Order: sequence, then C-alpha cells, then structure tokens
Amino acid sequence: MIVVMKKRATEAMIQSVASRIEQMGLKAHVIVGTERTVIAAIGEKRNGEQQTLSGLDEVDKVVPILAPYKVASLETKGEPTIVRSHDLVLGGGHVGVIAGPCSVESEEQILESARCVKAAGATALRGGAFKPRTSPYSFQGLKEEGLKLLATARDETGLAVVTEVMTPEHVELVARYADVLQIGARNMQNYHLLQAVGEVDKPVLLKRGPSAEIDEFLLAAEYILDQGNPNVVLCERGIRTFETHTRFTLPLATVPYLRERTHLPIVIDPSHGTGIASLVPPMAAAAIAADCDGLIIEVHPNPSEALSDGAQSLTPDQFADTMDRCRAVARALGRSI
Ligand code: PEP
Ligand code: MN
Repeated sequence: MIVVMKKRATEAMIQSVASRIEQMGLKAHVIVGTERTVIAAIGEKRNGEQQTLSGLDEVDKVVPILAPYKVASLETKGEPTIVRSHDLVLGGGHVGVIAGPCSVESEEQILESARCVKAAGATALRGGAFKPRTSPYSFQGLKEEGLKLLATARDETGLAVVTEVMTPEHVELVARYADVLQIGARNMQNYHLLQAVGEVDKPVLLKRGPSAEIDEFLLAAEYILDQGNPNVVLCERGIRTFETHTRFTLPLATVPYLRERTHLPIVIDPSHGTGIASLVPPMAAAAIAADCDGLIIEVHPNPSEALSDGAQSLTPDQFADTMDRCRAVARALGRSI
C-alpha cells in the first residue's frame, strides 16, 4: 500500500505513521517527494490495515500498489530518482556516460583509458577488477590490485569509479574503493548479493540478466531497494535470443517500457548488447534517441590487446566520435550530455 501523507504533514507525523505501519508487521519505506511524502507499506496483506491507516489524521489517502515490485514502482514514487556520484548524474533529464575497459589490466592501461574517456566527455570510469568469466581459464581480473588502480585513476581524473562486485563477502572491500557497485548480468538473481549491496551507502548499477524478464529485473532491483538503498540504476545489456550474429540482442524498447513502470534511471550497454565494436556507436546514439538516462561503453587504448572483450571495445578515437554522435542526437531532442 502507498500511504500518501497530507501536504502539511511534519517530520514527526511522518515518523509516527511509519512506526504505526511497522507495528502492523509491515515494512515502512518513507519516500520524500518534492510535492509531498508517501510511505510505502510493504508486506503480506492482512485485513483492516488500509482502513486503519486511512483513518489517521495526517494521512491523505491509502492506495494499493498493483505492481509486484513495490518500491521500484512508478505508482509509489511518481518522480524520477536521480543518482549522483562525483560528476556522474543519471536520471531526471541528466544523461551520464560511463566508459572504460572491460577489465583493469595495468596502471598504464587504466590511466590512459581514464584520461581519454574523460577528455571525450565521460563522467565515470568503468573497469572490472573481479571478472565473471564464462571460462575458468580466462583472465579473472586483478582483484584488490585492480581496485587500487581504479582509485588512482579517480584521484587523477575525478571520474566516479564503477566496478563489479561478485560475492557478498567482497561487498565491503569493493565499496571501499568504488563509487558505484556494478552487479553483473550473471548475478542479477543472486539474492544474497543484492541484499548485501542494498545495505551499502553507494549507488548500484544492476545489469539485466540475459534471460530475465522485465518483471524479474525490477524485482531484483526491489531486493536492493528493500534493504534501504534507494540509489539503484537499471542497465539493459542485451538478452539471449535465437540470433547468433550479435553477442546478445539489445532491446531498446526496454527504455520506454521501464519508463512507464519505474522511477529508477535506465542505462544502456551497447558494448555487451552487441559484442561488436562497429555496432556500438549507432546503438549508443539510438539509445539516446530512446531517451535513456545513460550509457556504459567499453573503451580500451588498444582493443586488439585487451585481456577481455576486445572485439566490442572502442578505441579512444572511436569513443570520441561516438560521444559527438550521441551529443548530436541529444541536442536534436532538446537534451544535453
Ligand atoms: C562487464 O560489464 O564487463 C560485464 C561482465 O558485463 P555483463 O555482466 O553485462 O556481462
Ligand atoms: Mn566486458
């Protein structure tokens, strides 16, 4: 249920209604909007609660939340969530670009990547230190050493660092270095991991599982929100279909579809979505045309030498051209990057 507070409700009144909700055995998520505050009362529905809460003086009305994802739903929060970290701003009309190599490989590689993506206009640096690889024989990442190199790159460039965390045990370690925690596609339904990042005070970039339906994707986000972390970014990175010419199939309709259902920012990953570098610039521009809140793009100083995902990585020059192309599309739609 959504408990809509009266406009004049004070902080004390809001807290008192939240306590009342908790006493009923429900969880209370207070969502402060620009217009008024609502409290999402989440839990197994019993009889009479709606009536009791509607009767409270400071409550305007109580409405049921129809979607299975409660806190993520647009019904609960009608205004966009804006996620910020350093200069990265995603949502509410702000478009952020996260760029960098698939994996952190060396100090030279990550610093060179950071400098070139920053010069081209990216506001965050990506790079995996813990890599979920299909084969156990592939490069698994530099682990903590990689995290330290990312922090060095942030110190030099000011870019926010986005990096993946693969297990609940590593959340504390990764959060010490990262600005945004990435949950990889393979881990979208690792519920203990989702709950663990839900307890952290850093934004989370949640990638869609390649076989996940949109409701499953939103329910995965709900696991994070339910633990009290409101800063979740949804990332469409392509799904598995019968098509084998591209690595995955990148459904851009995900953007307007999600927009009608959730207030969370939506980012597109055209690199994993296609797996082919030449397809990345047009799909990045198309994602901007579809009104996404941000892009995450793989860029490597020398893609042919990359230890992971070289075939889909852009060179620095290709990335700069892609940014120009995206800016032109954004401008045509009255937005800016
Ligand atoms: C990555 O970002 O390098 C990655 C492994 O992505 P995904 O989880 O989408 O496959
Ligand atoms: Mn990758």
